[in-house]
Amino acid sequence: MSNRKIQMPREVYIDPGIIKDTADICKSLHLDKKILIVTGSHTYDIGAVPVIESLEKADIDCDVIKVDKASFESISEVEELITPDTTVLGIGGGKVIDVAKLSSYNQGVYFVSMPTTASHDGIVSPLASIKNPNRSTSVKANAPIALIGDSNIIADSPFRLLSAGCADLISNFTAVKDWQLAHRLKHVEYSESAASLSIMSAKLITNNVDNIKPGLEESARIVMKSLFSSGTAISIAGSSRPASGSEHMFSHSLDKILDKPKLHGEQCGIGSILMMALYGDDWKFIRDSLKAVGAPINAKQIGIDEEDVIEALMMAHKIRPERYTILGDNGISKEAAYELAHNTEVI
Ligand SMILES: [Zn+2]
Repeated sequence: MSNRKIQMPREVYIDPGIIKDTADICKSLHLDKKILIVTGSHTYDIGAVPVIESLEKADIDCDVIKVDKASFESISEVEELITPDTTVLGIGGGKVIDVAKLSSYNQGVYFVSMPTTASHDGIVSPLASIKNPNRSTSVKANAPIALIGDSNIIADSPFRLLSAGCADLISNFTAVKDWQLAHRLKHVEYSESAASLSIMSAKLITNNVDNIKPGLEESARIVMKSLFSSGTAISIAGSSRPASGSEHMFSHSLDKILDKPKLHGEQCGIGSILMMALYGDDWKFIRDSLKAVGAPINAKQIGIDEEDVIEALMMAHKIRPERYTILGDNGISKEAAYELAHNTEVI
């Protein structure tokens, strides 16, 4: 029996127009001494401006910093502005949220997650992905004290980002299979409740594909709720296992191979088709679900060369050797990778 703590947000808001109530929410959580808004140049107008208005009306002291990269430099820039009284509001996409999450964690202050897109499950999880010169690393931080997701803003963001968020969630199906396999073969710690919650999050998307449409507030709400529950599964497990298996290793391989990687969720979705086929399971269900939410299902649609798909498949098992998956310790051979990609019509 481990006594590892499970970290969750204390309050979660997923509503249209909720961003205007930011000051009230901060006050009710006693986080109104000093606010530091971390945002991006694209998200400043749509996300930060209404929040600044709300805070000014309530006489809450606030500072703003714009960051454009999830790098260690951006994190130290933000850290320099943090005092012990500060609460950090991360208002933007995945990169902004990651910088806000890590800088607040390093300085021991609270952080509120205010995503303007719903493109992956980092918006609630305690993990952040930061770019090093040669690879991205997943770093442990704290879960946000609150999640404020304005479904109007998220619905207005490019639909491709929402589709990618759905694809990241659909890929939970293979992540959980890998987790169960690793539990059976290597006795890695496994949580039935975290696995069930992760699958439920994915099903919230696959059972609702008809309601995932561009510009629809309801779609944004469904995806946000699923990302929230998937992030909660990660918190319960204390690792990204429930939402990250071989399909994520395939995506991380592409991140290394490609000069300009595609969206995280899109790459993971295609990885999930491939890995589900490796399991000899229903990969067509994964493919059809991805297609139904507008996510790419093959190399051409996502804009990757066939050779890069094969290379990514062959190097995926090396990305995180301690994480046992269907790829085993030695990975997949070139011939088998070709056959797999062909059979699933990924290439
Ligand atoms: Zn992911």
